[in-house]
Amino acid sequence: METYQISPIGTIRSPYKQKFAIPRQPRLIPEARAQLEFSGEFKREEFIRGLVDFSHIWLLFRFHGTADKGWSPLVRPPRLGGNAKKGVFATRATFRPNAIGMSAVKLEDICYINGKLWLELSGIDLLDGTPIIDIKPYLPYSDSIPEAIAGFADTRSETELEVYFSEQATEFCIKQQKKFPDLHQFIAKVLKQDPRPAYKKSKGGIQNYGMCLYDFNIKWKIENNINTVLEISHQ
Ligand code: SAM
Repeated sequence: METYQISPIGTIRSPYKQKFAIPRQPRLIPEARAQLEFSGEFKREEFIRGLVDFSHIWLLFRFHGTADKGWSPLVRPPRLGGNAKKGVFATRATFRPNAIGMSAVKLEDICYINGKLWLELSGIDLLDGTPIIDIKPYLPYSDSIPEAIAGFADTRSETELEVYFSEQATEFCIKQQKKFPDLHQFIAKVLKQDPRPAYKKSKGGIQNYGMCLYDFNIKWKIENNINTVLEISHQ
């Protein structure tokens, strides 16, 4: 079989430090900001001349966090409760041949400072450190297909859980406001989409969880489908 060698053009710096709680698709959480830092020869402005005129871009990337775990022809989409199996090419699963992903995200800004070139992005669904293998401008006249039919993923998931913050968690977000003005809203939106694995969603009682966003540890509980952020701390 023919093989190809692909080298990354840059790396994503994302608030999502682990897979757990990352949204399933881009632009579901606009507060998810990230930087795409260009590397090596791609740190030159020529590569992105004209990109400033586009509001959205496609990122092609490698699922580096799962690529070494292989793939299989059938996968269980979380959207179907983790029970039904679909062909990997009928899904957006991470465990796929070649481990290549694609996300359309908002281009917020382009920065070139002291020889460092990066893009400011929002609405991302990517793990910190994700290698980017290509960028293309998003073309609404062709890429947007309003009449398209999308099988089991035809609509955005309707889950929107309630989210409350403890006094400590609220205070913590207020203290971070200068550097992270959207922190409260960002955490709330991540939890609203109910990041629990499908098999936990039907279980009752109190469930405790933790996750990392930026370098913050966030602890919360879910009871009767209500999230309460209990504590936020520095790592
Ligand atoms: N929008 C992309 C696509 O359709 O190819 C990704 C969809 S995939 C279902 C989204 C999930 O990929 C996220 O919820 C996260 O758990 C996972 N993910 C994001 N970046 C990753 C990475 N670099 N390596 C492995 N998994 C990653």
